[in-house]
Amino acid sequence: MSEEQISFRDRPISMNEKGGRKWVYAKKPKGKWYMYRTLVSILVLAFLVIAPFIKYKGYPLILLDIANRKFIIFGAIFWAQDTFILALIMLSFVLFIIVFTVTFGRLWCGWLCPQTIFLEMVFRKVEYLIEGDFRKRLKLDNGPWTVEKIVKKVLKHTIFMIIAVLMTTVFLMWFTGPERLLEIARTPLRENWSSFLIMLLVSGIFYWIYSYFREQICTMVCPYGRMQSVLLDSKSLIVTYDFKRGEPRGHKSGGDCIDCEQCIAVCPTGIDIRNGTQLECVNCAACIDECNNVMRKVKRAPNLIRFDSMENINSGTRTIFTGRTIAYSAVLLILFGFFVYSITSRKMIETTILRTPGILYQINADSTISNVYNLEIVNKTHLDIPLEIKVLSHKGKIVVAGNKIEVKDQGKFETTFILYIPQNQLKSDNTKVEFGIFNNNSLVEKRTASFVGPVIQ
Ligand code: SF4
Ligand code: SF4
Repeated sequence: MSEEQISFRDRPISMNEKGGRKWVYAKKPKGKWYMYRTLVSILVLAFLVIAPFIKYKGYPLILLDIANRKFIIFGAIFWAQDTFILALIMLSFVLFIIVFTVTFGRLWCGWLCPQTIFLEMVFRKVEYLIEGDFRKRLKLDNGPWTVEKIVKKVLKHTIFMIIAVLMTTVFLMWFTGPERLLEIARTPLRENWSSFLIMLLVSGIFYWIYSYFREQICTMVCPYGRMQSVLLDSKSLIVTYDFKRGEPRGHKSGGDCIDCEQCIAVCPTGIDIRNGTQLECVNCAACIDECNNVMRKVKRAPNLIRFDSMENINSGTRTIFTGRTIAYSAVLLILFGFFVYSITSRKMIETTILRTPGILYQINADSTISNVYNLEIVNKTHLDIPLEIKVLSHKGKIVVAGNKIEVKDQGKFETTFILYIPQNQLKSDNTKVEFGIFNNNSLVEKRTASFVGPVIQ
């Protein structure tokens, strides 16, 4: 039994017995699942690169403008005032992840996570191209510093650095938009050194992750990866080894596993899936492909390693879509529906009305009492909206500073207004008044605020 097979539960696979780094020299995967993953990766990479450029109703499809506290998601704008909706969306997203993981295991990690996609489908492919497959790379790394080795290493790391800078550009575009990033890039360096430093730092981090730290992000850092042990159960769909069929392993031992260890050789996190579900498994399916290639050669049935649940392996059944999977998928659809509903059903404006701090009421000659208010209206649409404010709960009069309320496209309108209420209408010295915000005479939003003033005795 190899040292890895004995020590797999004692320490991370990327660590040797002295605590130092142990490199994973993964074999290049080949097979059906790898082809599917390549196609999915192309779509994800295309989305990551193109999304900041896509305009919807004249606005970016997605923009996470943290600096201006504004998120644009599929054309819907979320401001700081939308924290409640965002919190609900985040909550449903967390719930979505939990239900998704319980049902479909770590499919996200191996198939959709940008970290895995960039590592396996971009950086690792460059490495295969320059340094060859795992045996050649191992030989190159352990060999002396020849001209060939220097050329290959310099070329590989130069390309890695260029990709890291390109990744940073794409990454920053999600937060600034392409136009703003171009503006920053055109500004002379002396006026823009902080942006340049951020760019350099992020590029440096990306380069370090993909050239050195690599799969340890998934096995040691990522919190989602660390949660697997509590999220998965015996019914979850995972990449698993059919030990009932495979054991006893070995060429002439009777089981289907010939103990060739090719599933370990191809694993990007370096684990042996035959040891059971492990934290390090990102469900990339490379071992399924590799074992199927072996099974084909030794003329045995495929899928000794496959996507299945532990319950199915133990019971010998092969039903992947169980009642639970269907029920959980329905929950996922509902959550997704809620997400879409939250984005599409947002109110066109968000109004805040507060009494102006530090100003008391005024008793006027016409027996009215007046209070001064601050009015703030955020426009969440892509249109300029003319509005009107009326008092609904009392027979009062409103005088707005500037007379006109028009909130520009995605803009914020701030003003003050005075509300006059006849003193005989006041029932207490602190009355709740209700305001209505109207657009073309139709009520858009209601707001309440307090009105202070003495009651007639
Ligand atoms: S690739 Fe398949 S046959 Fe070879 S060791 Fe792994 S499980 Fe066994
Ligand atoms: S065990 Fe298989 S599915 Fe899991 S990470 Fe390794 S190769 Fe990918």
